[in-house]
Amino acid sequence: MWRAVAVRALCGARSGAGAPRAASGAAAAQLRRRLESELEDIRGAGTWKSERVIASRQGPHLRLADGGAGIINFCANNYLGLSSHPEVIRAAVEALEKFGAGLSSVRFICGTQSIHKDLEEKIARFHQREDAILYASCFDANAGIFEALLTPEDAVLSDELNHASIIDGIRLCKANKYRYKHMDMQDLEAKLKEAQKHRLRLVATDGAFSMDGDIAPLREICQLAQKYDALVFIDECHATGFLGPNGRGTDELLGVMDKVTIINSTLGKALGGAAGGYTTGPKPLIDLLRQRSRPYLFSNSLPPAVVGCASKALDLLMESNAIAQSMAAKTQRFRSKMTAAGFTISGKDHPICPVMLGDARLASVMAEDMLNRGIYVIGFSYPVVPKGKARIRVQISAVHSDEDIDRCVEAFTQVGRKHGALP
Ligand code: PLP
Repeated sequence: MWRAVAVRALCGARSGAGAPRAASGAAAAQLRRRLESELEDIRGAGTWKSERVIASRQGPHLRLADGGAGIINFCANNYLGLSSHPEVIRAAVEALEKFGAGLSSVRFICGTQSIHKDLEEKIARFHQREDAILYASCFDANAGIFEALLTPEDAVLSDELNHASIIDGIRLCKANKYRYKHMDMQDLEAKLKEAQKHRLRLVATDGAFSMDGDIAPLREICQLAQKYDALVFIDECHATGFLGPNGRGTDELLGVMDKVTIINSTLGKALGGAAGGYTTGPKPLIDLLRQRSRPYLFSNSLPPAVVGCASKALDLLMESNAIAQSMAAKTQRFRSKMTAAGFTISGKDHPICPVMLGDARLASVMAEDMLNRGIYVIGFSYPVVPKGKARIRVQISAVHSDEDIDRCVEAFTQVGRKHGALP
């Protein structure tokens, strides 16, 4: 009898294996209809985001799963080319073998290994700060800091174009909220005056803004913060590892390392590109985050292989600034050649080089045609960027060769002429 049941169970399991099970019932059917209609709206609005499947490692040259090979990649945040650096990969494998696949635990229960402490110490040293705390992502670091730090007695002043994760983090906190116009110091000053009535003021800004490649006027922000007794927080996801003479970030580039109080950044872009984020700053703040920051307290520890990647990336950067410098030279080459060809490139000296086109359809058709010529770039249009400001965002990496960059400029010139973006 029991054998028959077991055989039936096994056969049943086998016949159903892999087949998706749709939940039944009126509520499930209603949900499905609602979701399908919402998805249709997204398609209808022309804002559907599709994902190209890569069949190789991340790097300057890619193979796509649908057959495209030898594609030159200009749309990853792999600014220093460390995502596939042999020493970074070796460090990950070693950490995996020595420390296992993962911790199956949050940090404060059973999830802190020596490598987590070592990496936090290294991050603090890299940024010349007192301490650092790791998160599963910078999105989590941003989601976890404002609520832990600010109360209804305090105020946060945020650039209107800050990253979504800063906006979400601020939404979660009970502080008084002020939004100042993008990089507008007059408006920030007005808001700082208004916020004098609160106990503590925190100015929050991206160090470098990822849609425009523009860099926050940190010197002026820090001067205003000093004048109105405020703290400065920067998100350095698009700066850590490559901005400034030693790649320390926007604060190093603009000479205000001693004036910025808190830095959040990612391990998922220039620093090896695996995943992870962090906050670095005064020790009591980091101690408080370990006690109060919800994404830290209630989420699994970073996997050892990920820690290994980031740790090696930081070693490479602290040994030499050659990689960061080489990226700056490549960026300069692309920006000047594109400008000479007649394109408008937004931002200044940043490896995010938005080729401004204006029209959404033009950006999308040109990006498609660039891929036909072996150049992988992405078009951005409303609602990701303002209406009428569509663009193709090009991201330069230290591992692009001069020839890669020249091929990209050449393809842009041909495609731009074909579609009327150039005379
Ligand atoms: N902040 C900025 C400015 C970003 O661009 C990103 C990622 O796109 C994040 C935060 C989130 O970083 P992570 O990928 O580590 O969650």
